Amino acid sequence: MPSSIRPLVAGNWKMNGLAAHLSELQTMATGFEDASGGAAEALICVPATLIDRAVKSVAGSDFAIGAEDCHVEEKGAHTGDISAEMIADCGASYVIVGHSERRTNHGEDDATVAQKAKAGWRAGLTAIICVGETEAQRKAGETLDILERQIAGSVPAEANAENTVVAYEPVWAIGTGLTPTVEDVAEAHTHIRSRLVEALGEAGQSVRILYGGSVKPANAAELMAVQNVNGALIGGASLKADDFLGIAAVY
Ligand code: PGA
Repeated sequence: MPSSIRPLVAGNWKMNGLAAHLSELQTMATGFEDASGGAAEALICVPATLIDRAVKSVAGSDFAIGAEDCHVEEKGAHTGDISAEMIADCGASYVIVGHSERRTNHGEDDATVAQKAKAGWRAGLTAIICVGETEAQRKAGETLDILERQIAGSVPAEANAENTVVAYEPVWAIGTGLTPTVEDVAEAHTHIRSRLVEALGEAGQSVRILYGGSVKPANAAELMAVQNVNGALIGGASLKADDFLGIAAVY
């Protein structure tokens, strides 16, 4: 049942982080259980260059490490790309797919995102599938239609609570300091939940739905308390242990 879903506090470092940043990650891993009172799971998705070292630096804790994207194929002539198998080989357990920055900067459409989610599964990774409307789409009153279309196109039919997390990230809220009202978050998450149940049946009840977009310690409590919000996907505020643990402390 939705109320028994264990929340996930997930970070997305994007194109940030050098070796020197790993000490911040260690502070997060050491402090997370205390901060969250053991009530939530923790994950940081790091650039590919850091996956191996990040996994080693949180070894011995329950802290999970993920990647930010993967190629759809297992191997081959794709210069510069990284497969889900390579990510798993480094010890990561999650991969973000379909982040709006990938959709915009790399032209990824829903079908590609669904293929990437399946590629992640093939390698044993949990896929975090991102959806969310642009500012223009929200202003045009299209938010729920867009979410419906993205869920239908990006979430494969075999998704379940073990292999998939959905992240609702309004594009206009990412990195801007703006957030939707709690009513708008509730509407979007309820809509996503109902679409997931329609598409996946009972499995759709327990897939975690994260909220992402300018989550900070100051707004996390009210956002995380919204029904059907099962955790957060955090960009900027996941780079500093104080901020990340401050968000975990709402649990
Ligand atoms: P933000 O990014 O927390 O910096 O807004 C969220 C994201 O893009 O996942």
